[in-house]
Amino acid sequence: MKERIHIVWFKRDLRIHDHAPLHQAASHGKVLPLYVVEPDYWQLPCVSARHWRFIRQSLHELNTTLSRLGQPLVKMQGEILSVLDTLQARFEIAALYAHEENGNPWTNTRNQHVQQWCTQHGIAWQAFSPCELAAERAPAPARLAALQTRIPQQGLPDTFGTVLENDEARHCQAGGRNEALKLLGSFFRERGQHYQRDSTLALAANSSCSRLSPHLSYGTLSLREVSHKLQSTLENPELDETWQQSLQAFATNLQARCQCLQTPIAAPTDATDFNQGYFAAWQTGMTGYPLLDAGMRALRSSGWVNFPMRALLVTFASKQLGLHGGKLAQHLAQCFTDYEPAIHYQQLQILAGNGDVKTQRLSTYLKHAAALDPQGDFIRRWLPELANVPEAYLHQPWAMPWSVQQQSACIIGRDYPEPIVDLRRAAHNSQMKLFD
Ligand SMILES: Cc1cc2nc3c(=O)[nH]c(=O)nc-3n(C[C@H](O)[C@H](O)[C@H](O)COP(=O)(O)OP(=O)(O)OC[C@H]3O[C@@H](n4cnc5c(N)ncnc54)[C@H](O)[C@@H]3O)c2cc1C
Repeated sequence: MKERIHIVWFKRDLRIHDHAPLHQAASHGKVLPLYVVEPDYWQLPCVSARHWRFIRQSLHELNTTLSRLGQPLVKMQGEILSVLDTLQARFEIAALYAHEENGNPWTNTRNQHVQQWCTQHGIAWQAFSPCELAAERAPAPARLAALQTRIPQQGLPDTFGTVLENDEARHCQAGGRNEALKLLGSFFRERGQHYQRDSTLALAANSSCSRLSPHLSYGTLSLREVSHKLQSTLENPELDETWQQSLQAFATNLQARCQCLQTPIAAPTDATDFNQGYFAAWQTGMTGYPLLDAGMRALRSSGWVNFPMRALLVTFASKQLGLHGGKLAQHLAQCFTDYEPAIHYQQLQILAGNGDVKTQRLSTYLKHAAALDPQGDFIRRWLPELANVPEAYLHQPWAMPWSVQQQSACIIGRDYPEPIVDLRRAAHNSQMKLFD
């Protein structure tokens, strides 16, 4: 007789705590905790080695935790329906439990296929929303019964091919529940106090933002766990005004995440008139606009920049360089360790869409640049070629007189590029082409 099991399919929810599918499955019988490495997913142009690194680290911890409970993670490779067929040949599958996912078109279609497979085979399909913040947290199971049936498993690959080089990713955030809990603790204990003031500054945001995004995207922490921690911190009567304002601002962002995850998305298609030269310069941080270049280089190296910097990267590309569509979205998706399709594509649509956006003028760019990086510390951190440029010229090095260029060891056009577009002219000329 086949062993009767309840499959818990882990995707972007790599934890056992506050995991409603696992909690439910464990209350019904034997659990088969499943992670499937899907080669077709890892061929998509929006994924990268840094995503896999984060996931892989998180899976290792998840596996250790599940093993302690009695049943290690079952790791398989292949197309999900074939994996399910393999499991069905060995087990009696009572039900399949998973979290709902507002993913990209590929994952949405794959999830529909799984649901259809369950219906065809008379297997219950139970999907749980990751956004029910008011509900109680689902306790982790105390133990899991070990499965008796042998399962053909594959190890986790070390890496997948990627456009971004591996050594660029060495500053990216580490995965795993332990790392997530450390960040959660330090944010609510100390780092978050000046969140409202500093989260918009390019350099200070590194420590004053929570940095929880990749952990929320891959589910080493649940949104509800963060939300409950926020509520309990807000209930502290000794909280000063700075903390209160910061935590309110943080709460607004958590709500934004929840909203995004529940809104259907459409991934952009490739644009027809695409200037490859502009794209290459933007993509490598060589446009001649220092803050933009510093932002891109920081992103490539660390997998993260704050919200205003992401917004600048997108608006500059679309409004000044006329770059739209899939390639833009894909490059950023590959760079962001926290890539979450629902948020990513909605933000891109808002920022790069043809809505009511004014042409960005040089004065506007300089105003934004000064607000994001008032002393130019971020630029100096990421653009070593501008290290000796006086502060007065950091945001517009092209305006340096020749003698200052020589003194700063930064010759424009040799050590650092000339601006790729003249914003004064671009603002005038491109109005029709870029914004109508
Ligand atoms: C073009 C563009 C693309 C983006 N792509 C992603 C993405 O792929 N994944 C992602 O998690 N965030 C994305 N964001 C939103 C935001 O920039 C990041 O969530 C944030 O910078 C992550 O850092 P943090 O965790 O320290 O955020 P914090 O400032 O500490 O905020 C806490 C949490 O709130 C949520 N949040 C914050 N801002 C937003 C927002 N505007 N919309 C929805 N949720 C938000 C995130 O989950 C974040 O972890 C994008 C923003 C832009 C402009």
